Amino acid sequence: MSLDELYKETILDHYAHPRNKGKLNNSTITVEGANPLCGDEISLYLLVEGGRIVDVRFEGRGCSISQASTSMMTEIIKGKDLSQVRALIDAFKGMMHGKEPEIDLGDLVALQGVRKFPVRIKCATLAWIALQQALDSFEERGAVVTRVVEE
Ligand code: ZN
Repeated sequence: MSLDELYKETILDHYAHPRNKGKLNNSTITVEGANPLCGDEISLYLLVEGGRIVDVRFEGRGCSISQASTSMMTEIIKGKDLSQVRALIDAFKGMMHGKEPEIDLGDLVALQGVRKFPVRIKCATLAWIALQQALDSFEERGAVVTRVVEE
């Protein structure tokens, strides 16, 4: 199996069996993200305690890239403190724009193939940009409910 095929398998596995799917009723942060160009929509529910993401769930619909990226993201940020999450956001966005990640991104490396299709990069970064903006609001104001639309 080639690396491209392996990456494709990983993306389809997360799409077919999304991790941390569902809703959190006690979330500290709720953020919706939309990528109208492709029709992708996601909602993230984060429970933050003591500067750490203690639980995370998501709901969403759209293409396999957007949903797989969100599933992978929930898996890697769960249990991490907010500074680690910021570093992951930077590393992932950097990777999607051609930079070699300096920290372990786990399954997320499967998404680097998407770089060959520039119009789909927004599908991959949707959840990450929503998360980043939600964390900015959270650190300014505390608990937030927000919506982010990719332009
Ligand atoms: Zn998409």
